[in-house]
Amino acid sequence: MMNNRREFLKNASLLTIGSWLIGGTGSSLLAAPQKITGKKSFGLQIYSLGGELTKDLANNMQKLKKMGYSYLELAGYGDGKVYGVEMMEFKKITEDAGLKITSSHVNPPVWKYEPGNIESIKDFWKKTADDHVKLGVKYMIQPGQPSTNSTEEVKYVCNVFNEAGKIANNAGIKFGYHNHDREFAKVVPGGKAYNIDRHSKGSIIYDLFVKNTDPNLVMFELDVYWCVMGGQDPVEYMQKYADRIQALHIKDRQVLGKSGMMNFETIFDQAYANKIEDFYVELEGMPRGHTQFEGVEGCAEYLKKAKFVK
Ligand code: MG
Repeated sequence: MMNNRREFLKNASLLTIGSWLIGGTGSSLLAAPQKITGKKSFGLQIYSLGGELTKDLANNMQKLKKMGYSYLELAGYGDGKVYGVEMMEFKKITEDAGLKITSSHVNPPVWKYEPGNIESIKDFWKKTADDHVKLGVKYMIQPGQPSTNSTEEVKYVCNVFNEAGKIANNAGIKFGYHNHDREFAKVVPGGKAYNIDRHSKGSIIYDLFVKNTDPNLVMFELDVYWCVMGGQDPVEYMQKYADRIQALHIKDRQVLGKSGMMNFETIFDQAYANKIEDFYVELEGMPRGHTQFEGVEGCAEYLKKAKFVK
C-alpha cells in the first residue's frame, strides 16, 4: 500500500511538472491522473529458468515477483505435474508468491498428424484441458511444429489445431500456437519438404496456419525473435494478423536488448495498438559462468527501464 501511494505521488508530481513545462493550466492537471498506467505488466515463460527454478521453488517464485514479473507461462507439464512437481502444489506456491499462471506450453506426444492418430491427439488434449482448468489458465499453447512438408500436410495440421481449439473452448480455455523460425519456411502442394529459402515458390507455413484455422478456435502467440530469425518482421505480422496474434514471446538472442537486432520499441507500440495484454519474456541458455536467473533478471530490468513498456 505504501509503495502504491509513493508511486502515485511520484507520478503525480512528474505530471505536474510536465504540465507546467508545456504551460498547462488547471484543466490539464485534472486530466493528468488518467495517464497514469500504474505498474508495468509482463510475464515469464518458465522454460527460461530450466532446472534452476525447481531447486528451491518457493524462494525462486518470490525472487521472480521481486524482479517485477507478475504472471507466468508454464512449460514442463506432463502427467498432472509441472517439472515433476504436483501441479496443484506448483500452483499454490506460485500464487503464494503473488504470481499468476496464465498460460501453459504443451505438445501432443506425436509429431506427424494422420487420420490414424487424430483420436489419440484429441484424447491427449481432453486430459490436458481438464488439468489446465484446475490450473486456471487463459491459454493452452502448442509450442512445437508438427510435420509440415506439403500444403496438404499443413492443412491437416490445421484441422487438428481446430479440434484442439474446440476441446479447449469447451473447457473455457483458448488454444494457441507458438512459432519458432521454421514456420516461416515455404511449402508447395504435393511437396516432400519445406523450403527455408524465402525466395522459393510456395506459401509460408505460418500464413497457412492462420488462414486455415478458425479464428474462434485458434489464437497465435508470436515469438518475435524467432519471427525475425525466420526472415520476417514481427510488426508486419502483428499488423497483418491483428485479430489472431493475441500474445507475444518477448525474446532476444540472449538478455533482452543486448543483441541490438530486435526493435522492441516498435514491437511494443504495435502490440499495445493491437490491445495485446500478454507478454511472456523468454530466454535461451546463458553464456558459461552466468545463471539463467541472472539473465531473467536482466530481461526484467530492461523492460522496467524501457519507456515504451507500459
Ligand atoms: Mg518462444
